[in-house]
Amino acid sequence: MQYKIYLSPPHMSGCEMKYVQEAFDSNWVAPAGPNIDAFEEELCRYTGSKHALAVSSGTAALHLALLSLGIGPGDIVLCQSLTFVATANPIMYVGATPVFIDSEPVTWNMCPNALEDAILHYINLGKRPKAVIVLHLYGMPAMLDEILYLCKKYEIPLIEDAAEALGSEYNGRKVGTFGDIGILSFNGNKIITTSGGGAMLSGNAQYIEKARFLAMQAREPVRHYEHREVGYNYRMSNICAGIGRGQLEVIDERVKQRRGNFEFYFQQLKTLREINFQKEPIGVFSNRWLTAMTISRSVASRVNVNTILNELNNYGIESRPVWKPMHLQSIYASQKYFGNNISGTLYEQGICLPSGTAMHEADLRYICGIILNKLQR
Ligand SMILES: *Cc1c(COP(=O)(O)O)cnc(C)c1O
Repeated sequence: MQYKIYLSPPHMSGCEMKYVQEAFDSNWVAPAGPNIDAFEEELCRYTGSKHALAVSSGTAALHLALLSLGIGPGDIVLCQSLTFVATANPIMYVGATPVFIDSEPVTWNMCPNALEDAILHYINLGKRPKAVIVLHLYGMPAMLDEILYLCKKYEIPLIEDAAEALGSEYNGRKVGTFGDIGILSFNGNKIITTSGGGAMLSGNAQYIEKARFLAMQAREPVRHYEHREVGYNYRMSNICAGIGRGQLEVIDERVKQRRGNFEFYFQQLKTLREINFQKEPIGVFSNRWLTAMTISRSVASRVNVNTILNELNNYGIESRPVWKPMHLQSIYASQKYFGNNISGTLYEQGICLPSGTAMHEADLRYICGIILNKLQR
């Protein structure tokens, strides 16, 4: 399907080519080079993270995060259920056992109560979970104070999947820097892109060095090819890092534009009682990567997510259901799950609206018109 308006297409700044040209001119057309070093430094400066490692994808960054924390076969990892499958799959890569945690209805992220239930359940079984993976869904920061408190109380490392949340803040500090490790994604649909790529952030240099080593085939630092561990080929290319540098120059503008999209949708649709959005609690600043809304059950007999998805589709507009929770996916249905299926309801009632940063107000008005027309009839 060729859409007229996409959900979240790449948006070039025009600053990318100078860094890509530099890479060509200096012949650093490789998974090493000055753009990578500079991109890592610039990511640290922007996020406030002490250390950063640029890699080939957000999924690779999550895999490396688990390996850096020494997580392996038989270990329990507690993971937010309402997410893209890439958050959970790396738990399987390392042979650990994912256990899924429900969402709370305010930010749609990990419910601290369900998290504590799960932690206590496993501690009582003598199996303290080895990590918690929290998410900032569609850019909205999770309840980090509560989650950090629990992780500290029960001595469990926290991994933040901030793939969708570059630029989001919690109490004035960028998300991705609260956990022991944070990860970012620069896939084509994210707020900034390297065409494909990701990064691992950490205040702990040892985690980053371990991940850097594993991402380069675990080659021992000697002249010949010596390997004592299984490694991976996960480094970002110097060309992609160049694109990333040009994109990072305009991140503040992109955050402003995404928030502007949300504000427009909110103002147009807030009068409809059946529509709800993710709430930004006090002290929280979301990049509003995607504007997501729910359509409540009171109208679901007449209009539901599918009617709106179909209607927008008929007009050449791409919209999507909210991620289908992991505990409802056939590959993960046999794993343990803690919560009351709030994430399942968000999936049933949720829809992600076009949120690209190159959209014009006329596009937003057009989309809102279609939705209002359907719901008010
Ligand atoms: C995009 C995304 C990822 C994966 O990132 P890739 O760079 O595509 O591998 C992981 N988690 C979440 C929540 C994402 O949205």
